Amino acid sequence: MHDPTIQHQPSCEDELNIGLLTVAEAQARIRDGVAPVSDTDTVPVREALGRVLAEDIISPINVPSHTNSAMDGYAVRAGDLPDEGVREFPVPGTSWAGRPWLKPIEPGQAVQIMTGGMMPEGADTVVMQEQVEREADMVRIGSGHRCGQNVRAAGEDLATGQPVFSAGRLLSAADIGVLASLGLGEARVYRRLKVAFFSTGDELRPVGEPLGPGEIHDSNRYTLYGMLEKLGVEIIDLGVVRDRRELIEQAFRDAAASADAIITSGGVSVGEADFVKETLEKLGSMSFWKIAMKPGRPVTFGHIDNAVFFGLPGNPVSVMVTFFVFVRQALQKMTGATGASDVLTLHARTITPLRKRPGRFEFQRGVMEQAGPGEFTVRSAGAQGSGVLRSMSEANCFIMLAPDRTSVDTGEQVEVQPFQNLI
Ligand code: AMP
Ligand code: MG
Repeated sequence: MHDPTIQHQPSCEDELNIGLLTVAEAQARIRDGVAPVSDTDTVPVREALGRVLAEDIISPINVPSHTNSAMDGYAVRAGDLPDEGVREFPVPGTSWAGRPWLKPIEPGQAVQIMTGGMMPEGADTVVMQEQVEREADMVRIGSGHRCGQNVRAAGEDLATGQPVFSAGRLLSAADIGVLASLGLGEARVYRRLKVAFFSTGDELRPVGEPLGPGEIHDSNRYTLYGMLEKLGVEIIDLGVVRDRRELIEQAFRDAAASADAIITSGGVSVGEADFVKETLEKLGSMSFWKIAMKPGRPVTFGHIDNAVFFGLPGNPVSVMVTFFVFVRQALQKMTGATGASDVLTLHARTITPLRKRPGRFEFQRGVMEQAGPGEFTVRSAGAQGSGVLRSMSEANCFIMLAPDRTSVDTGEQVEVQPFQNLI
């Protein structure tokens, strides 16, 4: 018989999930709760790669600075070209890239010109080398050419005074190339974000040491390190902190004194040894959220002094998922970057069935492959337990299954977010 004194254990999968926050609500609250840094550094252009521009860039020059040839060939006046048949042009000299032919072109002449060579005054058209017959100081050119062909106008890429980049731009390889083409040796960027993190738990052993009974190696500080490194932030690793009130409090004080953001893993569940929440309540302000997602249901977000705080769950996959879904976008906002999200959502056809109960948003680990142009397949990366880091390491995307979705059959379409280059 059922013993009425034993309380019914509410399941994680209880329908409706009353009181749970949706993923989108939690993302919005976090986004609203963080602000971009304002201090800036002036750095050499190469060091600006991957940094966020803190000034608007206006082109100080024309790029290209002079009208030049897009081909190796002969610069002529279009009006001299024959309408039919072939015409002979004397060739007085050559305009090399960086060594221009400085005399104006005379009527009926063709100046040999190299790619990037400055157009001689009076010339407006370039005939490709392959389309002429050269003989000593003379060249034969036929009909069918178009006035202005193969010529790049001064300022065609960027004109003097034209806006080039706005503050908030995350600088790419092409961007620092553009800055260099403008002759700019330095750029003003937002200072690098400082992010401190530590793991909590009495069971955690550093790598390189044998495990005692009941102990595990601390892997979260490695996944967090890797994900933060990809964001280009300054990393402050505060190690493992034992589950003791005063040690956790000290770690928080140290972190808040040195960092813009603090990330912890573990210690946010309701276990007796979980001091993260109460410490945060004492030192700052915090919100503890149960989010309708799997994995990664409990997440804590708050502030200590000027630092923002993310308390991630302890399970290794939960750490990575909650970092990807919440922390990453918040840190990106804090860096001052204003561009569109770099996370792509694509459609893929599942080639393995996916188990899912309704109620929570599931981020399942998947392996996606291109099946054709714009077509992708995805399969489960293996066991989906929140402690199974191995399947996270196999995976290259999250399969995003909305709360109301139930199990997915082979052949059905699902949304996926590739993360290979992001975390
Ligand atoms: P907690 O949130 O502290 O109750 O931790 C939840 C689970 O994650 C437990 O099984 C912990 O042993 C595990 N865990 C916590 N921190 C880490 C860590 N840094 N590395 C690996 N596993 C961890
Ligand atoms: Mg713990």
